[in-house]
Order: sequence, then C-alpha cells, then structure tokens
Amino acid sequence: MFTDDYKETPYWWERTKPPVMEEGTLPQKTDILIIGSGYTGLQAALQTARAGRETLVIDAEHAGWGASSRNGGQVSTSIKPTYAELEKKYGRDLAIAILTEGKNSREYTEEFIRTEGIDCNFKCVGRFHAAHNSVSYEKLAKGITPQLPGLETEAYMVPRSEQRSELGSDSYYGGVVFPNHGSVDPAAYHRGLMNKALEAGVTIIPHCKALDLSCEKDGFAVKTARGVVQAKKALIATNGYSGSLSPWHRRRIIPIGSYIIATEALDPDLMNRLMPKDRIVSDTRRVVYYYRPSPDRSRVVFGGRVSLGETNPRKSAPKLHASLVRIFPELKETKISHSWMGFVAFTFNTLMNVGEQDGLFHAAGYCGSGAGMAGYLGMRIGQQMLGLKEGDTAFNHIKFETRPFYTKKPWFLAPSVMYYRMRDSINI
Ligand SMILES: Cc1cc2nc3c(=O)[nH]c(=O)nc-3n(C[C@H](O)[C@H](O)[C@H](O)COP(=O)(O)OP(=O)(O)OC[C@H]3O[C@@H](n4cnc5c(N)ncnc54)[C@H](O)[C@@H]3O)c2cc1C
Repeated sequence: MFTDDYKETPYWWERTKPPVMEEGTLPQKTDILIIGSGYTGLQAALQTARAGRETLVIDAEHAGWGASSRNGGQVSTSIKPTYAELEKKYGRDLAIAILTEGKNSREYTEEFIRTEGIDCNFKCVGRFHAAHNSVSYEKLAKGITPQLPGLETEAYMVPRSEQRSELGSDSYYGGVVFPNHGSVDPAAYHRGLMNKALEAGVTIIPHCKALDLSCEKDGFAVKTARGVVQAKKALIATNGYSGSLSPWHRRRIIPIGSYIIATEALDPDLMNRLMPKDRIVSDTRRVVYYYRPSPDRSRVVFGGRVSLGETNPRKSAPKLHASLVRIFPELKETKISHSWMGFVAFTFNTLMNVGEQDGLFHAAGYCGSGAGMAGYLGMRIGQQMLGLKEGDTAFNHIKFETRPFYTKKPWFLAPSVMYYRMRDSINI
C-alpha cells in the first residue's frame, strides 16, 4: 500500500520545501497586522505594503503551513449555490454579483500569476465534473442551460458513451466539462506570492501564534507567543484554522478536514489512459472526491472526506486508495507515496464572507474552494483596509450566518456526513 519513502506531508512540499526564515523580532507597533500567512493574508499584505503601510504578518506555524500549501490545486469559479438558490435568498442583483465574483476570482488568479511571473504550473486544463448516477447527469445538463445573459459559463456535456475521452473509468454516468477551470501547484503559488510580499517590504514572523486580541482606542493590542504588538488595523486570515482567538468568527466558521493522497509515479501510458486531457476532476457525490494528475503528470493526487469525524493521514490513506481503485481499477497495485490532510472552512450559507466586525477585518469561509478565491478576496480585503472603494465585494453584503448552540465544535458534522454518505452509497 505504501512506498518505502512514504511521507505524511503534502506531495507539493517535495518541490516547495517549508520556508526556513529567520524568526526575527516582533515589532512593538505596526500599521497593519495580519494573522495567518496563507493566500488570504499574503494577498492582503501585498496590497497594504505596496500602498506604503507598515505590514506585519504572523503565523502560528511556518509561513503557508495551512491549507494554502496543502490543497488540491483545483482553481474554479468557486461559488457552490446555483443562481436559483442565490436569487431566492438574496434577490436578483446580489445573486448576479456573487456569481460575478466567482468569475472574477478565477480571472484574477491567472492574471496575478502571469503578471507577477510566478512559476507554479498554472494551466487552464478544464474540469470534468462527473455524474455519479443518471439523475445527477440530467441535473448537470439542466444546470448549464439556459444561461443568464452576462454570466454565461463555458460548459458542455459528455455522455457516458464518450466518457473515456475524458477519464479512463466506467464508474460514472458521464459529466460536464468546464473548459475554463485550471490547475496550479498550490505550494509553489504560495511561495511565489510570499516572495512578492517580502519584496514589497512585508515582515513575516513565523511560529508566532496570536493568543489574545483586544480592541483599543487607536486599533488593536495583540498578545502573541512572542510578545505584544499594537496595530492600527488588523485582519484575521486564519480560515479553517480559526480557533478561539475571535469567538464571533468561530461561531460562523465550520472547520472540516479534507484528506489527500498522492500515488507513486505511474507509467506514462497508464496516466495517458486514465487522465488523457490533464483535467481536474470532481464528482456529484455529496461527499465529494476531487483529483488530478500532478503537474508533471507522473502521479494521481486524490482527495476527499473519509470518515464521520476527523482522523489521521495513516488511517485516511487506505480509504482514499480504495475509493481511487473503485474509479480506476487499474490502480489496484499502485502504492501511495504521500498522505496528508488540512482544514477547509465551511459556512452555514456555503458562501465566503468578507468584512469588518468591531474594527477587525476578515475574509474567510471558502467552503473548500479557496485556491483562487482566497487570494482574490485577500486582495480585496487589503484594499478595504486601505479604505479603497474598489475593495467592496458582493460578500460584504451578505450576512455571516451562525446557528444557535454553535460555539466550538461542529457537533452536527458527523450526522451530516453519515446522512450524505448513505445517500451517495444508495445512489440518490
Ligand atoms: C486538503 C485540502 C484540499 C483543498 N483543495 C482545494 C482545491 O483543490 N481547490 C480549491 O479551490 N480549494 C481547495 N482547498 C481550500 C483552499 O486551500 C483554502 O480555501 C485556502 O488555502 C485558504 O487560504 P487562507 O489563507 O484563507 O487560509 P490558510 O492557508 O489555511 O492559512 C491560515 C493560516 O492561519 C494560521 N493561524 C491560525 N490561527 C492562528 C493564530 N492564532 N495565530 C497565528 N496564525 C494562525 C495557520 O497556521 C495557517 O497557516 C483545499 C483545502 C484543503 C485543506
């Protein structure tokens, strides 16, 4: 099952090793303090530093340790609810604005990587979103037509009879192709972004957990593991790793573990059979699987949710392998070289949220689709911290919802996963 050199760290860290940075001295004061050094925090920092504000980013672990260097690298338009669902809840204008932000985030990510010259294998490979039963196939077909004027999404159906042109598997009932979705090496993207932030004059202090935050007359006093820092403005950019620091945010973010494996290197002919078009792939199960070839097309990187509660990479690996083999029986004897996990942040309305609460800025709740969106909204919240009008987003105008009795642990998660897994397994 495991290769001799099997590791429980992200496959991406082979190319982009965790950064070794000087620990540095924590400044006593700063204009802008950003807590969390993933895509959200660093894109915000880039904005404020380039506008001449003294900007400090702290992270409890090494820079980029969170989801930004662990994710599947699938870059999409990131909005989960459909237009009909959004329109019913928020009205036509806001529904359109939300979907437009999804498109903006996808465009921004590619444009940012290109114009900044970041070497991170961004490729517009397209997504094959596979139907796990015939009802889902029909739903997908209905979902792509007719399209709203101005919000047309390039998409076409691939029936089961032609599925092998997309995927070397007979386990699905066809699917839809979104040619505009892309893939990226997530840790290399993070590293390129981090280097840009450092070049712009951002100070990054790793291994410096924010422990307590108090609002003062001229901003915030933040107690950290390495001393106290006063900041005129502060941003919480901790997403799926948000702990007790801000109870208001904790009540609105649902951290959920997502688990990934990478296979050992495959024979190139086998890879060409399994994933001939280099697409990123996901499916219509409620407990979704997402997978893709590695940037050099040597391995399959395969992720999903494996158990009702959280587990560890050693236990999740065989379960993911079994699911992988159900899709690609040819991989039965293929070994696993890497297994890891990370936390995504879900929200009660399955939408991200951006804004300011009691003077503290936030951008969070990407619901597992932050590879592009987190950086885009990080950029926007950075603009908001500068007081720029263009920073405003559709997500500033929706409520950051919570639920009664939700204060710490998502007690409702295990029953929901069990319910959805049961539905998936009986194919409804
Ligand atoms: C396994 C996995 C697979 C995923 N796959 C995809 C995908 O294919 N496509 C997609 O679009 N999205 C995907 N995502 C989601 C995406 O990675 C995230 O939405 C995005 O990276 C969030 O970025 P962020 O900067 O907001 O948070 P993160 O990158 O998680 O950074 C938060 C940081 O905050 C730090 N922190 C927490 N508390 C404190 C504190 N008190 N003091 C200081 N620092 C603190 C943490 O150490 C962490 O480094 C995936 C996520 C995971 C975990």
